Order: sequence, then C-alpha cells, then structure tokens
Amino acid sequence: MTAQITPQPGIMDIALYEGGSAHIEGVEDVVKLSSNENPLGPGPAALEAFRASAASLARYPSSDHAELRAAIAETHALDAGRIICGAGSDEVIAFLCQAYAGPGDEVIHTEHGFAMYRISALAAGATPVEVAETNRTTHVDAILAACTERTRLVFIANPNNPTGTMIGGNALARLADGLPPQALLVLDGAYAEYVADYDAGAELVETRENVVMTRTFSKIYGLGALRVGWGYGPRAVIDVLNRVRGPFNLSTPALAAATAAVRDRDYTAHCRAENAKWRAWLAAELARIGVPSDPSHANFILARLRNPARAEACDAHLKSRGLIVRKVAAYGLPAALRITVGDESACRRVAAAMAEFMETAE
Ligand SMILES: *Cc1c(COP(=O)(O)O)cnc(C)c1O
Repeated sequence: MTAQITPQPGIMDIALYEGGSAHIEGVEDVVKLSSNENPLGPGPAALEAFRASAASLARYPSSDHAELRAAIAETHALDAGRIICGAGSDEVIAFLCQAYAGPGDEVIHTEHGFAMYRISALAAGATPVEVAETNRTTHVDAILAACTERTRLVFIANPNNPTGTMIGGNALARLADGLPPQALLVLDGAYAEYVADYDAGAELVETRENVVMTRTFSKIYGLGALRVGWGYGPRAVIDVLNRVRGPFNLSTPALAAATAAVRDRDYTAHCRAENAKWRAWLAAELARIGVPSDPSHANFILARLRNPARAEACDAHLKSRGLIVRKVAAYGLPAALRITVGDESACRRVAAAMAEFMETAE
C-alpha cells in the first residue's frame, strides 16, 4: 500500500518565515538592524532575574503565569484576570486564529501587515484576506468594506511593521464599532511602548466586547530570545485562548526576566527616549540626502528608494559596510528597506553608508 500522507488544507500555502540575518560572509564588525531588536539589550533587573532563575531549572514553570500577569497588570493598570501570556505574541496570534478561524472563515490583514497574521490564518485552515492601505497606512473604511459574514478576525498592527505608521484612537474605535458581530479586532501593539501616551488600545478593550490587544517583550524590553508576549481582552475571549494554550508554554527564565522587565519602568522610559532621539536623527539625515520615509512611531525606519533595483543595490552597499537591514519586498514594498534604529554608533554608520550610496549613479 502506498502511503498518502497529506497536511491539512492551507498548510502548503505558507511560505517559510525568514528571520533577519545576522552574519555577512567576510565582513567584520557587523551590526544587525533587520529584526527591530533593542540595541541596548534587556535592563539590568531583567538580566539579574534571568540569572537567578538558574537555581530552579529542574522544576516545571508556573502554568498560570500569575506573577507575570500581576506585574503587567500593575504597570499598565489592567485586570490581571484578563491577561494571557504566550511564547511571544506570535503564539497569542496563533491561539486567536486556532480558536476563532477555520476552513471557510476569513482573516483580514492589511496590505503591508505583519507576516504572522497570514501564516497563522493559513495554519488554522482559514482564508487570509489582504486589504489595501492608503499611503502605507491602515485604511479603516477599506477594512470595513472588506468584511463579510465570514470575517472572524481583523489584525491591525498599530504602529505597523514594516511601515512604522499608525492610526489614531478615533479611527480604531470606528473600526471596532463598524465590524460585523462575529468579528474580533486584534490590535497588535508590538511597538506601542515606543509611542508616548499610547495605551495600545487598552481602553478600547475595556469598553468593547470585540477587541483584543497583543503585546510583546521582544522589542522595547530587549528579550526576543526568551519568547514572551501577552494578550489582553474580554474575559470570555481570554478563557477561550487559555483552553488552547499549553500549560507550560513559558519557561521559568522567560517568566522571571519578563516580570522584572515590565516592573523596570525607568529602563523602559530610557529605551523609549533613546529610540526617539536616534530615530529622529536618522530620519532627518536620510531625508537630507534624498531618502524619504514616513514619520515612524516604532523602532525602525522604512527608507524609500527610487525603485526596487535601487533598494537591492542599497541593501548590497549597506552589507558591504557591515550593516544588515531588512528587505521588505515580501511585504509588498520592493523599493523600500526597513532599518532598525540602532544605538548612536549604528545610526551614524547607517547615515554615512547611505550617503555614500546616494552619491553613486542611478
Ligand atoms: C516583532 C513583532 C511581534 C512580536 O513577536 P513576538 O512573537 O512577540 O516576538 C508582533 N507583531 C509585530 C507586528 C511585530 O513586528
């Protein structure tokens, strides 16, 4: 008998996710600016908590994440009972798709939206639906127009990756209120900590039954290696997600470091200020040499070159100078490069290398 082993429908439509690379053949002193990591790393309190957790590696981790949820709730003034923690916010996104979307259901994401929305929708057997943006910005009316009776989830990253743009609170509320009754709005706040006075949609979650917010420790907290994210939503939704969550999805070192990190508000504020300073500096330097970008609300800049060939050539030039940035053709932006805001030295190197490149012939 010939074996006929086939995966669930949709799985083979998933393109393998490519992380930002970290090495260049033959080039030393390489700076990785391709994954929006915090150039300052985690804070000292988080590192200390991580080290201390080595004493209890033989024990299974907490399964209810009570301490981390309490710390998050305290820092953000939220209800700890409506927080769910995941192995990265990627896992929370996957839980949402697994729990709320299946074959025949539609999952909306925006034109230049984060890749995991499409991947998780397909993994759940659902149909991803891409909605056009306007000037690289989420377009609420286009999303509402794309909703059908099959729409189950709508994913918006605000600020968005890789565009760095965001929409305001009124637009978000209009989106939540305009969705069909069976659709859940997911506000991905991976970069929310970089925006001053932005609650990432927490208020919308509090006042609506159809809004969930996701957050991560991979960006401003500098803990990408540990894989910690969380979600905040209506009690009924969080209860559903907890049923699909594995009991030990987060390791003890990850829980310990994240708990310390979210309590260390001074360090978070320091990282936010450094990012804002060097982001503004880099954007101005690029604009001065003829490389435009939209005002970014995150820890990266989407630099726009004249055409895809120029973006490729610019990427190659930056690589020759030891600078790894992110090509974003897969996000429908073939003429752009996403550049993480590094520390001062990295930003100065990027500006200098870009200036060299812009002096080369078209
Ligand atoms: C980086 C990023 C995440 C975070 O993913 P983790 O799984 O928490 O590391 C989520 N959403 C967006 C838009 C991102 O850019």
